Amino acid sequence: MAGATKSCVVGSGPNGLAAAIVLAQAGLPVEIFEAEGSSGGAVRTMELTLPGFQHDFGSAVYPLAAGSPFFSSLPLHDYGLQWIHSPAPLAHPLDDGTAVVLERGIDDAARSLGPDGNVWRNLLQPFVDNWGILAPEVLRPFPLLPKHPIQMARFGKTALLSAKAIVSRFRSKRTQAMFAGMAAHSFLALDELLSGAFGLLMAISAHAIGWPIPRRGAQSISGALCSHLTKLGGTVRNSSRVDSLSALLEYELILCDVTPRQLLRIAAQRLSQSYVRKLERYRYGPGVFKVDYALSAPIPWRASECRRSATVHLGGSFEEIAASEKAVRSGEHAEAPFVLLAQPSLFDDSRAPAGKHTAWAYCHVPNGSQIDMLQRIEGQIERFAPGFQEIVLARRALSPANLESMDANLVGGDIGGGAMDLRQFVFRPTRRHYATSAKEVFLCSSSTPPGGGVHGMCGYHAAKEALRSTIR
Ligand SMILES: Cc1cc2nc3c(=O)[nH]c(=O)nc-3n(C[C@H](O)[C@H](O)[C@H](O)COP(=O)(O)OP(=O)(O)OC[C@H]3O[C@@H](n4cnc5c(N)ncnc54)[C@H](O)[C@@H]3O)c2cc1C
Repeated sequence: MAGATKSCVVGSGPNGLAAAIVLAQAGLPVEIFEAEGSSGGAVRTMELTLPGFQHDFGSAVYPLAAGSPFFSSLPLHDYGLQWIHSPAPLAHPLDDGTAVVLERGIDDAARSLGPDGNVWRNLLQPFVDNWGILAPEVLRPFPLLPKHPIQMARFGKTALLSAKAIVSRFRSKRTQAMFAGMAAHSFLALDELLSGAFGLLMAISAHAIGWPIPRRGAQSISGALCSHLTKLGGTVRNSSRVDSLSALLEYELILCDVTPRQLLRIAAQRLSQSYVRKLERYRYGPGVFKVDYALSAPIPWRASECRRSATVHLGGSFEEIAASEKAVRSGEHAEAPFVLLAQPSLFDDSRAPAGKHTAWAYCHVPNGSQIDMLQRIEGQIERFAPGFQEIVLARRALSPANLESMDANLVGGDIGGGAMDLRQFVFRPTRRHYATSAKEVFLCSSSTPPGGGVHGMCGYHAAKEALRSTIR
């Protein structure tokens, strides 16, 4: 019966593509309508600065894509997707001219973390060893009845803690600083519950998978997903913004890779009043201010170890990063913001003309911020790489409004599809998760579980639920 159902997906981000592939695998005819001129949402590569310099418009580093249970089940390498691992997943420079480097192997990491080596190993080893069990459990709606209750209880006991509570186990300020940078990916203040979970997941994934970048950039992930979908009989229609679901009456099943605010705009007439009220209460998280650079040379890091990693976290000590994130949570702009930086061209020569380089950097800002953070971001890069500004050939700053104009899901610059606090972790965006009040309409974006990041698991679970409802 499912095979006869005509289906479509609104939006071709990684979750829209994952949803469409699941529907196509089940034999449904499926079309994707994508607003922008190219597919992939926040997983696209563009010449944002100068000819020949390829920049990742949104995401750049992919532990969760490489470790995604669904993406791992697809033959994406057959369509050219190739992961590149820098020798170390992460470098975190400090003011004394050295850097804390997170090694990929947990034994190497424990050795390099000195006095915290054993604590690090004891904290992470059980989860690193069981990533295959843990990943499907954490990359789905919060499980009331987990399939692996002992593992999940063990993970939950630590993951629910704040980053501040977790770092109290470390003796060295260096380890504390490094964990702060990983936990700051949560967009939460580092004394908030759940902020520790992000730090843990980043650290576990660094050892269990690595933090790879794709050869030729983000677009090669979206390209591989599109090619696989096409092979299964699906179609992607770019430059096809959906302004109202009333234009899609011929489809019996509609999955929406959009956030709640957009769903209200395109589907309000089809939704019940009580569901509309719930979506109206959905909260977005802080935004980001991003800069892409074309460079004449590699970044001149004072700590040369920073050249071993595609990802570099700039923010100094735990206390400084905590203050920066606290400011953003309170609606303020940090004077010395925590900056996440990627330097892919050091490991992938397809990103820039010979001998030249690219860099990608962003900091967190209040949602919808209109403040220009360029000087503050460059201040942080210069702090750890004096002379950086002299190698800049061109730069392109993207404010929250610019980002949203290039991908409507980036509401106010929020890259996670909505705040990820305890409430929206469990009820995302409502207790129905993927289902809406209209029986043929489902949500499949990062505003559903498990939330932001490139893993496709929101789309996977949404499509599975949609198929169950169709077959019923
Ligand atoms: C600057 C930045 C840095 C990031 N860094 C990382 C990272 O390093 N690693 C990581 O794992 N994640 C990262 N992320 C997050 C990650 O990219 C997102 O969580 C992920 O892309 C969400 O996927 P999605 O499919 O839900 O939405 P999106 O990727 O946002 O895709 C949504 C798609 O829907 C389309 N759309 C919206 N409305 C309509 C409409 N009405 N009609 C038709 N089409 C529509 C949009 O144009 C877009 O193509 C980053 C994001 C950004 C922006």
